[in-house]
Amino acid sequence: MDQYGIFVDGVSRPGRGEIYPLVEPWSGEPFAEVAQGDESDLDAAIAAASNAASRSGWERLEPIRRASVLSACSDQLRARVDDLGALEARNVGRPVAETKRNVELAADAFAYFASLTTHIRGSTIPMGPGLFDYTLREPYGVCGLITPWNNPIVLSSWKIAAGLAAGNALVVKPASATPLSVLVIGEILHECGLPAGQLNIVPGPGSTLGNRLVESSEVAKVSFTGSTQTGIGIIQRAAGHMAKVSLELGGKSPSLVFSDADLELALSGSVPAMFSNAGQMCTARSRVLVQDSVFDAFMDGFVKHVSAIKLGSPFDPDVGMGPVISRAQQEQVLGFLDRATAAGASVRHGGGIPAHPDLAKGFFVEPTILTDVEPDSEVSTEEVFGPVVVVDRFSTEEQAVERANASPYGLTATVWTRDLGRAHRVAAALRVGTVTVNTTKVSYVYAPFGGYKASGLGRELGLEGLDEFLQVKNVVIGL
Ligand code: NAD
Repeated sequence: MDQYGIFVDGVSRPGRGEIYPLVEPWSGEPFAEVAQGDESDLDAAIAAASNAASRSGWERLEPIRRASVLSACSDQLRARVDDLGALEARNVGRPVAETKRNVELAADAFAYFASLTTHIRGSTIPMGPGLFDYTLREPYGVCGLITPWNNPIVLSSWKIAAGLAAGNALVVKPASATPLSVLVIGEILHECGLPAGQLNIVPGPGSTLGNRLVESSEVAKVSFTGSTQTGIGIIQRAAGHMAKVSLELGGKSPSLVFSDADLELALSGSVPAMFSNAGQMCTARSRVLVQDSVFDAFMDGFVKHVSAIKLGSPFDPDVGMGPVISRAQQEQVLGFLDRATAAGASVRHGGGIPAHPDLAKGFFVEPTILTDVEPDSEVSTEEVFGPVVVVDRFSTEEQAVERANASPYGLTATVWTRDLGRAHRVAAALRVGTVTVNTTKVSYVYAPFGGYKASGLGRELGLEGLDEFLQVKNVVIGL
C-alpha cells in the first residue's frame, strides 16, 4: 500500500498523528495510508513558513523569477496529467477524463498567477505641495489554506498559486480524505526552485489542526474552502487575532430555463452542471426552475439524458458518474432522499443505491431527479452535496428571479434564454457571485469566482483572487 505523510520545510516525512487509511470510493478497497500530522507537526509547519516569510527572499525576489518557478510547476503538472489524473481519480472516485482535465486546470492556475507576479504594483496619490504619497501592495506573510475533499487539485492550486505569486509563505491543511495531489504539488514546487518552508502541507483532522492553524497568531490570512458551517466557525476563531479571512462556501445554485431557451442546449448543459463529480460540487446547479410552457418537454428530455449516465469505476471510459466520496456521504445523501420522499416528493429518476451487483461495494447513489417538492423544504434549500436535483416550475420572469434568490446561498446561477434583454435583466437581478447564460462553466482563471450571502466572502481567481493575498501600505513622504 502506498504511504504518504506531510511536507514541511521542503521535506516529505511521516507525520506524528494518526494513520488515515484512504479507500477507493468505487470499490471500497483501501489503497494508501497517510501518516497525518499532529499539533507538533502543524506548529513546525507554521514555524517553517514564518521563517521563510522573513528569510527566504521569495517576497523580494525579482517578480519574473517568482513567475518562472510557478510556470515551471505549471509545465510539470501538464507533463504529469496522466499519472496525477489517475491518482486523483483513485482518491476522489471521479471519472479519470474529468480528473485529467482538473490537472490541466491546476496547471492553468499556476500559469495564470505566474503571469500576474509581474503586475503587482501600487499607485501614486497626489496630495498637494510638500508631500509625495505612494502605495505598496505587500504579501501578508504566513497564510493558512484549508481545502475540502471534492476537487482537491483544482481548489488547492487556486490558493497556492495566488498566495505564492503574491509572495506569501503558506501552510496548507487539506481534507483528510483527499490529500494526495496537493502533497505531490508541494514536491513539484520544491523541485522547481521554491524555497524550503515557503509551502508546507499538513494533512490531519480539521477539528484539531484546522482550528490550530486558524487560531495561530503567526497566520495573518486564512483562505478556506468548505462548508458554510465550518466557515462561520473560522471567521469567529480568526477574529481573535484579526486574521484576514476569505471563504468559499456551500451553494444551492439554480438553473432558470425560460420558454424561449434552446432546450437541447439547456438539457445537455444542465446534466453535467448537476451530476459531474456525483453532484459533489459547490457549484452544482441543484435547483432547476423551468417555465410552465416547456416544463413537460424539459422533464422528458432531462429524464432521458440522466437515464443514459453510466455509473462505475473512474477508469472505465464509458462511465459518466462515479460514487460519492465515502460511506458516510452516501448515507447523508440517502437521508435527504428518505426525508424528501416522506414529505411527498416524486422521484422522476433514480432515488437510491443502484441495484447492479458490480456497484455494491462502492459508495454509489443513483443520479436522482425530484419534482413536487415545496420550495422551502429541506431538499430545496439545503446543500445535499450528492447527485440529487430538484426541478420546479415558474410562470413569469419575476417569479423565476424571486424563486432563484429565495436561498441563503448565492454562489452561481445559470440562465437559459434566447432573449438578450432577459439575459441581462435576470443576470443583474440574481444575488449570486457568478451568472452564466446559455453555458455552464462557472470558473475561469481569468475571472473572479466566489459567493454572495452564505456562499462566502472574497474572491478566488482573476485579479481579485491575487488581491486577496495582498495588503496595501500607504507611504507619505514630506518633501
Ligand atoms: P468541511 O467544511 O467539512 O471541510 C473543509 C475543510 O475544513 C477540510 O479540510 C476540513 O478538515 C477542515 N475543517 C473542518 N473543521 C474545521 C475547523 N473547525 N476548523 C478549521 N478547519 C476545519 O467541508 P467538506 O465536507 O470537506 O467540503 C464540502 C463543502 O465544501 C460543501 O459545503 C461545498 O459546497 C464546499 N465547497 C465550496 C467551494 C467553493 O468554491 N465555494 C468549492 C468546493 C467545496
